[in-house]
Amino acid sequence: MAKIKGLACKECGREYPIEPIHVCEFCFGPLEVVYDYEEIKKNISREKIEKGPKSLWRYIDLLPVENATVGLSAGFTPLIKAENLGKELGLKNLYIKDDSVNHPTLSFKDRVVAVALSKAKEFGFDTAACASTGNLANSVSALASSSGMKCFVFIPSNLETNKIIGSLVFDPVVVAVDGNYDDVNRLSSEIANEFGWAFVNINVRPYYSEGSKTLAFEVAEQLGWKSPDAVVAPLASGSLYTKIWKGFNELKEVGLINDKPPRMYGAQASGCSPIYEAFKEGRDWIKPVKPDTIAKSIAIGNPADGPYAVKVAKESKGDMEIATNEEIIEGIKLLAKTEGIFTETAGGTTIAVLKKFAEKGVFNPEEIIVAYVTGNGYKTMEVLEGHLKSPIHIKPSLHEFKEKVIGQTVKG
Ligand SMILES: *Cc1c(COP(=O)(O)O)cnc(C)c1O
Ligand SMILES: [Zn+2]
Repeated sequence: MAKIKGLACKECGREYPIEPIHVCEFCFGPLEVVYDYEEIKKNISREKIEKGPKSLWRYIDLLPVENATVGLSAGFTPLIKAENLGKELGLKNLYIKDDSVNHPTLSFKDRVVAVALSKAKEFGFDTAACASTGNLANSVSALASSSGMKCFVFIPSNLETNKIIGSLVFDPVVVAVDGNYDDVNRLSSEIANEFGWAFVNINVRPYYSEGSKTLAFEVAEQLGWKSPDAVVAPLASGSLYTKIWKGFNELKEVGLINDKPPRMYGAQASGCSPIYEAFKEGRDWIKPVKPDTIAKSIAIGNPADGPYAVKVAKESKGDMEIATNEEIIEGIKLLAKTEGIFTETAGGTTIAVLKKFAEKGVFNPEEIIVAYVTGNGYKTMEVLEGHLKSPIHIKPSLHEFKEKVIGQTVKG
C-alpha cells in the first residue's frame, strides 16, 4: 500500500507491518498507522475529494483501507451554523458538527466502525466484536450484520435500555458483563487473545481510531477548506479528540489547508474525568477512576489515549473542562431549544463545556468555533425524566383548551 508505511509504536517508535495488532511487543505502547505523506500529496486534491462519495470514504486516500466495503454511507454529516446558540454564548461563528444523525446508528461510532470493519474484511476476519459503552455496540452490531459478519458485543450490564435494544435488534450475541466499562474491556482483551475475532477497539484499534480523523476532514471541507480557530470535543478513551487533531495536521501536511490547526478544547463529565485531572495537575499519566455519571457513553475510567489527549491539549494551546450531571442535562436542553438538535449525554457534556469556556472568555467572538455533537438524544431519553415540563392534559373540549392551555400559557 503506497500511502501507508506501516504501524509504529507511539512510545518507542518501533515499526511494525500492517497487521491486526495494537501494542508494541517491547514497551507495550499503542501502535498507530504511519502514512507516506509525500506519496499521498501526489494523489490528493480538493477537487478529487469533492467529486468523491458523500460519505467519509471521500477521504480514503488518508485512511488505512484499500477497499471500502463496510459502512458505505457513514459520515459526511451536517455542519450547522448555530446562530441561536451562538447569540446566547456571544459567538458569531459557532458551528455544530452533528454526528447525532450519522448513518446507520446515530453516533460518531459509525465512522470508526466503517473503517475498522472494512480493514477487518481485508485481513480476512469473519467475526466482529467490541467492548462498548453502548454506541460502539450499536454500530458494530449494525455494520457486522449488514456486511455478513458474525458479531459479539460486550457491554456493562447497567447500560441504558435503548442502547441495549439498539444492539439486540441487529441480532448479534450481546454479552452483558457485571462490572463497569473498564472491567468489560479487560475481559474483552483476554477474549481477543484467545479467539481469532476482529475486536474493533482492541486488535483492530489502530485502524478503528483513524476513522475519527474524518471529523476533522469534513469540518475543514465544509468550512471551505479552512481550519476552525477552536473546537470542543468530548473525551472518553481520548481517541476521537487526539485523532481530530491528527486529521487537521494531516490536511496541512498534504497541502489541503493552509491555516494552523485549531486549539483543542476537551470535555469530560465530572463523574469521570481522569484526563481532565491529569491535564490540570500537569501529569502525563492517568490515574484511573470509577465512573459515576449519567454520561455513560463517555464514562471510561482508565482511558487508553488519555496521555496523548493531555499532550494534544497542551500542544494546541487548548484546555479541558468538566460538567456535572445537572450541567449535562442543561446542555442537552440548551442545544435542543436553540438549534433543534436532540443530543445524548455526551453532546450535553460538550455543550455544557462550550458554554463554560464561552463564559470564561477564552474565545474571541469572531473566531470560528466548532462543537462536536457525537451522539443522539433519542437513545438516552430516560436521563431527561423529571427535567422537562409535563404535557398539559385536557378533555377533548374547546372550553378546556381555552381554560387550561391558553389561560395558563398566554399571559395578557
Ligand atoms: C465513543 C464516544 C465518544 C468518544 O470516544 P473516544 O473513546 O474518546 O474516542 C464520544 N461521544 C460519543 C457519543 C461516543 O459514543
Ligand atoms: Zn514501543
